[in-house]
Amino acid sequence: MVRLICWGALVFVIYWFGFRGGCGRSGALACPPPELDEGVGITLDAREVCRNSGYLCTALQGSQVTRWNLDKGKLRIRVPPADFLSGPSERKIRDAVIEGIKVWDGHPFPLIIDSGDFTLRLWDIRVVWTQGMSNHAAGQARVGWKIDGKRLNLETDGLAVVVPARVMMGVDEALLEYVKAVAIHEMGHSLGLLGHSDSPRDIMYPQIMPNTEAALSQRDLQTIDALYKLPNGATVQ
Ligand SMILES: [Zn+2]
Repeated sequence: MVRLICWGALVFVIYWFGFRGGCGRSGALACPPPELDEGVGITLDAREVCRNSGYLCTALQGSQVTRWNLDKGKLRIRVPPADFLSGPSERKIRDAVIEGIKVWDGHPFPLIIDSGDFTLRLWDIRVVWTQGMSNHAAGQARVGWKIDGKRLNLETDGLAVVVPARVMMGVDEALLEYVKAVAIHEMGHSLGLLGHSDSPRDIMYPQIMPNTEAALSQRDLQTIDALYKLPNGATVQ
């Protein structure tokens, strides 16, 4: 009997912290028509899709619409402490990344940031801190997907943010702006913008330039909003 109660409590905790939510719940997206999340097998006309959709078609033409399903309702982002930093520097860097991720709030998902030192909750996307990568990239988002019938299910294996070694000499505004820009860019990939922009004015341009503003351009917003209006998994040709 005791064992049954323990299992019941565990199931409840997992449900409460992990699976509660979904579309139509408080603070989540309204439930979409099923066709929008069940687009595998549908072919869309590129001329229609690419019109007024920012830089969406730099990567999308000839491939599949790849995004989170809207009936997920909201996304939970885990931002753990950067273990190689401490004190105010760590907090400032973590806050800059959180600020960067949150610029996507509402496009289309409400984002819930979990930045406690310890968490019991499950998350959809987590930040992985690093001080350098072998390919000299400023960041990386590992995104994959699985097809299940008419549904395409996006999966992420973390959003990596490189904190340059100069952080050890102190945290200045330029460094915070840089880290924030990397977080915005990688979060864009994690939301399903798998390609890059062809304009350095957009945050999804493949390089962070010295004058890159850590913000979304109108065209970034146009692109993400266009992506989430397409049936997930549909092929664009
Ligand atoms: Zn990129």
